[in-house]
Amino acid sequence: MEQTLAIVKPDGVARGLIGQVLARIEEKKLTIKAMKLIHMTQAQAEGFYAVHKERPFFGSLTDFMSSGPALVMILAGDHAIAHWREMMGATNYKEAAEGTIRSDYATDIEKNVVHGSDAPETAAFETGYFFNAFERV
Ligand code: ATP
Ligand code: MG
Repeated sequence: MEQTLAIVKPDGVARGLIGQVLARIEEKKLTIKAMKLIHMTQAQAEGFYAVHKERPFFGSLTDFMSSGPALVMILAGDHAIAHWREMMGATNYKEAAEGTIRSDYATDIEKNVVHGSDAPETAAFETGYFFNAFERV
């Protein structure tokens, strides 16, 4: 069983989309292995998105990610990384396939409701960034 880190980003939490996202996760039979609501500091958001630190949008992205509570989760399942990214849709909601979370709910390339790990190595880093062994079932 593969694991991935999923986040309902601050825009999704503020807009009341946690329930919609969780319903889709349960409907698609991904298993929730860990879950908590956190409010990241900017430094924590910078550590999380360190791979993007040279990007022009890094400051804005870390401001946004630390702007309010976010729901962080570990999801498990067959090909969980690709499966969850398929459910999210493309980064830019305008290019996201119909029926994906970003196509249905995102309003902005940055405020795109959800996050998902993009590879096994990043999933291992990201799940460990937010959860210790006692917080996982
Ligand atoms: P995430 O890592 O959040 O799951 P992703 O893997 O689809 O999304 P990345 O390329 O890793 O996309 O970018 C990380 C996040 O940075 C995006 O989800 C989005 O919030 C923001 N972002 C990406 N590209 C841009 C951009 N051109 N302008 C503003 N924000 C951007
Ligand atoms: Mg990414």
